[in-house]
Amino acid sequence: MDKKHIYQRRKVTLDSQKEFRLGEGKISGYCALLLGALSLLAVLAYRYPAYLTTIELRQLYNAETLQVVLKYGMYFSLFFGVLTFILNGYKRLGLAGISLTLLAFALGGYSIPVGPVEPMRLSLGVDWLILALLGSVFIFMALEKLLPRYKEQVILRAEWGLDLLYFCINHLAISAILIYGNYHAAHFDWALSPALHAAVQSVPVLVQFVLIVLCADFVLYWEHRLYHEVRALWPIHAVHHSVEQLDWLAGSRGHFIQVFSERAMVMVPLYLLGASEAALNMYVVFAALQAVLIHCNTGLPFGWLKYVLVTPQFHHWHHSSERPALDTNYSAHTLLFDKLFGTYHMPGAHWPAEYGTTSPLPRRFWGQLFYPLKMWLKKWR
Ligand SMILES: [Zn+2]
Ligand SMILES: [Zn+2]
Repeated sequence: MDKKHIYQRRKVTLDSQKEFRLGEGKISGYCALLLGALSLLAVLAYRYPAYLTTIELRQLYNAETLQVVLKYGMYFSLFFGVLTFILNGYKRLGLAGISLTLLAFALGGYSIPVGPVEPMRLSLGVDWLILALLGSVFIFMALEKLLPRYKEQVILRAEWGLDLLYFCINHLAISAILIYGNYHAAHFDWALSPALHAAVQSVPVLVQFVLIVLCADFVLYWEHRLYHEVRALWPIHAVHHSVEQLDWLAGSRGHFIQVFSERAMVMVPLYLLGASEAALNMYVVFAALQAVLIHCNTGLPFGWLKYVLVTPQFHHWHHSSERPALDTNYSAHTLLFDKLFGTYHMPGAHWPAEYGTTSPLPRRFWGQLFYPLKMWLKKWR
């Protein structure tokens, strides 16, 4: 802990204009629009599964069962849309939701026959986007409302639209990211060891899972640290750090180079280790949930786990622009490597007062996309 630094409480003032309150039609309007948009996307994914779904994910869910979810999604969208008219507020959002749902009905609705799909090499992960968005809203938004860290921070905080855009792009690109990651990992074929694979697969799945977590964490730690400490790499990663209010959606913000490189790097240890599929699936679920959770605006008490795993408080410090926290807390899964390599920062029960980068970044998508290029050209001139 930095003795000279005075830790202050973060001040968050409630923006009552953006708050969701019962009875105004605003909640209904946004629900109608969200469900309408997701319903339309889902219907399109059922119509064109070869182009709009991912093979890897398709194997893990039952498309027919999800049509029941879609059915309820469509009816609830209509219900919330009508509710905006009854409540006489946010009727435009309600109407937009109803229109999208009616279009989804016109395109076949929830009863499009599910058949075998001709796999395409590259497709858009519309199915992944829908499931991740619905799951996040249900799990993480609920968590943030029930156990918030900053109670006054609203769901529609500054730049939420930008982060939703990042969320959509990164989820839609999942197929390209996976292909790139696998392709990259295949370069390490020379290091594959059948003896290691046999040894790893002979231990219980839970031990394999822990091994995967530790190996992935080591690689992710160093990849992350290089992004911070190599000057030419920082502008790419700075995009992730430009967010100034953290919540479940904030973690999605990331330059595509970082998203791709992270996936490619983490594939290498997983590929070399050769763990069983059950252990790998456990890791994928764990990593996906933890990545969202650590950005959440939640004061959920973790007890002794906060001394073992990366928690929201730990990763929030990584996003702080306060001096003692700069370039610390790189780990993605456990605290081991930050402790081992001297970059651990967790000042007791304190939380950051400020988030973001020390020098400002562009606040829009295109500006952030070209920000690294701009910085590199500036240096070479
Ligand atoms: Zn970072
Ligand atoms: Zn982060």
